Amino acid sequence: MNLSREKEQAFKEALTYLQEAMAAEKCQACGCFHQLVVALGQAFPAGVGPQELRETVEAAKLCLVERQYDCLGCEVCIPPLVVNALTQALGEAVADLEVCPTEKVEERRGWPPLPGAYQVLRYQAPVAVCCLTAEDLAAAVVREAGPEIAIVGTLHTENLGIERLIQNVLGNPHLRFVIVCGPDSKQAVGHYPGQSLAALAQQGIDDRRRIIGARGRRPLLKNLSPESVAHFREMVEVVDLIGETDVTQVLLAANQCASRNPGLARPFEASSILAPVPGYLPARMVSDPAGYFVVYVDRSRGMLSLEHYLNDGVLDTVIEGATAAELYTPAIDRGLISRLDHAAYLGRELARAEESLRVGEPFVQDAAPELASSACGPACHEAGA
Ligand code: SF4
Repeated sequence: MNLSREKEQAFKEALTYLQEAMAAEKCQACGCFHQLVVALGQAFPAGVGPQELRETVEAAKLCLVERQYDCLGCEVCIPPLVVNALTQALGEAVADLEVCPTEKVEERRGWPPLPGAYQVLRYQAPVAVCCLTAEDLAAAVVREAGPEIAIVGTLHTENLGIERLIQNVLGNPHLRFVIVCGPDSKQAVGHYPGQSLAALAQQGIDDRRRIIGARGRRPLLKNLSPESVAHFREMVEVVDLIGETDVTQVLLAANQCASRNPGLARPFEASSILAPVPGYLPARMVSDPAGYFVVYVDRSRGMLSLEHYLNDGVLDTVIEGATAAELYTPAIDRGLISRLDHAAYLGRELARAEESLRVGEPFVQDAAPELASSACGPACHEAGA
């Protein structure tokens, strides 16, 4: 293969980068490098392209170990450097090689439908916070988040990462804002997920599903329909705080977004949206075969007391403690509760009793919600009051 001096140099550079990735343990287990090796193998089968490249790719296949992550998000990612150099040497056909893992991930039931590096805080809140590569900032936002923040996560790639972000945001019609903050990737060549997300919000995608105006080498949203991208752009505002690492500023922005929340978005696929179940009371009371409880507040001793009676009225256990958890834990361990509705009722009453002890208000044990009179003992259970 005859190449000009310039192209020859770019070709050698590509091989050097490839060998660098082959020697790096982190790349051997990384989805980006796996994807590059597969893509090069497919683009240059036997008899196609420079033999030296084919031989290096074959050698690279032997270096791969079991994939441990999709993309490590390194500041300088080697596979895009390989593709850039090869593009210079061999032409534009190489530029479209996939070097990031882009397999479609199976959606699951519920929200968020796709896995990722995020933490869910609440469903019915209007703000998602994307901290780009700043995991420490994401942790701080999670710690200090108010009720306006639904989900906090990081984002490392401008293709797979943005695809998943959009799908997860579209799965919750309460979400109307995505705040993008933290430092964008600093690669000279490679991923710019923050800039790409901001560009997507402003300009959308072209006919090849490439984000218009994105600086990354692979801003392709292959697994998203143009309709879903359009819906995201119409319904969700991307707030550009790229570079901001001060948690206070991020929380302030979240607050400002919430103050102008336009309300529920039009669902993209109504069938996949999690609809709240309206609450209701049980139609009839079913006694717990294990017996019933009486809760007392013993103010003179600063204690709560839980008496357990068998259904024939015989007391078989008394539990004492200062908090609800200290009472219900032994009750569960001893098998004194056999029904979930009874456990829920006991938890509620013990929490009320604990609060009554704390604030000094009288405590009256409520009947189970479906009954006019309690099946769990006498109506008033204040001892030493
Ligand atoms: S992100 Fe790039 S440089 Fe980092 S481990 Fe993966 S392939 Fe290697």
